[in-house]
Amino acid sequence: MAEANIEKVVIIGSGPAGWTAGIYAARANLQPLVLEGNPLWPENQTNGTMPLGQLALTTEVENYPGLPAGKSREYLASALPPERQPYWVQANKPQPGHGINGPEMMELMRQQAVNFGTRIVSDDVVEVDFNGHPFVLKTREGSAVRALAVILATGARANYLGLPSEDRYKNHGVSACAVCDGALPRFRNHPLAVIGGGDSAIEEATYLSKFASSVYLVHRRDQLRASKIMQQRAFDNPKITLKWNRTLDEVLGTETEGVTGVRLKSTVDGGAEELPVSGVFLAIGHTPNTWFLKGQLDLDDKGYIKWTAPQRTYTSVEGVFAAGDVADSYYRQAVTAAGTGCMAALDAERWLAEKGLV
Ligand code: NAP
Repeated sequence: MAEANIEKVVIIGSGPAGWTAGIYAARANLQPLVLEGNPLWPENQTNGTMPLGQLALTTEVENYPGLPAGKSREYLASALPPERQPYWVQANKPQPGHGINGPEMMELMRQQAVNFGTRIVSDDVVEVDFNGHPFVLKTREGSAVRALAVILATGARANYLGLPSEDRYKNHGVSACAVCDGALPRFRNHPLAVIGGGDSAIEEATYLSKFASSVYLVHRRDQLRASKIMQQRAFDNPKITLKWNRTLDEVLGTETEGVTGVRLKSTVDGGAEELPVSGVFLAIGHTPNTWFLKGQLDLDDKGYIKWTAPQRTYTSVEGVFAAGDVADSYYRQAVTAAGTGCMAALDAERWLAEKGLV
């Protein structure tokens, strides 16, 4: 049996994988503890690693089964405590036309985990020791949490190209989150650029087209990677102009104004082209949040946690399980993250029982 100060299951991460693991582990009487991250830590804000994960940085969620477009006001008002209500419910503003958005969905998942007894600490894990057992998790605020089983669900964060000019103008016109920054005055009624050709790039461009005078969608090939329905959305939007076969060569700007333009380079003939824009939004994929795990368990060459058995959430360390985007560079959907979160909780429960630890 677990000692009083040793947790049975600790879940690190607070996206759909983490909360689903919490719901299942709590319902299995494992009294899970979720280390959800600290929203006030500045690097979480600049790195895009805030609590509630990437869905907290997105808009409409149209593809999560069971949440079709509809009227969600009354449900949200009754399901969430007052301090966690979406602003539009509290302010009695008009009901948005969609069923649910990312932040609302994550608040509901979090609340569902709490309703079954999941405990939450708003701290980040900065170091783990998986060499002994119980495992030890060190947090940024200096706690050492001991755990019999650990579920890693820290997700992935948005990539940047790594140009010095991109870095120089971060928060002054360069962003990887249209939802967070798109409505800022500097972007309103100005031309903007979005870099990338996947679903995220189109989602960002579509969202930004509501504020911007026009949006250039810059893609390095002559075909988009995005799903057909999203592609059509971009093609049908009169404010979006595709810039095919081009990469971002330089972000142009000044100290006082921030971003004033971009220089693009052709991937066909190397030719350069400058466009006046007041913002650049990167949507070029993700990096898994595994920096605090290095040397403790097997990662692949891109840093994603390796699952070690088919159809299981096992990692290279017995008793440590992984769920969601931190171990999945392929599907990366809210529903698949939730699915593997459920699997990880069931795997942890069975492992603890097999070992006679609970
Ligand atoms: P993604 O599908 O991996 O697309 C990344 C895009 O960035 C690709 O078009 C890629 O170009 C481009 N890219 C990567 N590195 C680059 C570089 N160094 N320079 C220039 N371009 C670069 O990533 P994502 O769009 O973030 O989507 C991730 C997952 O989330 C996908 O499974 C997607 O379906 C899902 N998602 C779904 C929705 C939705 O359904 N509403 C919304 C957002 C995301 P290439 O195509 O040439 O490789």
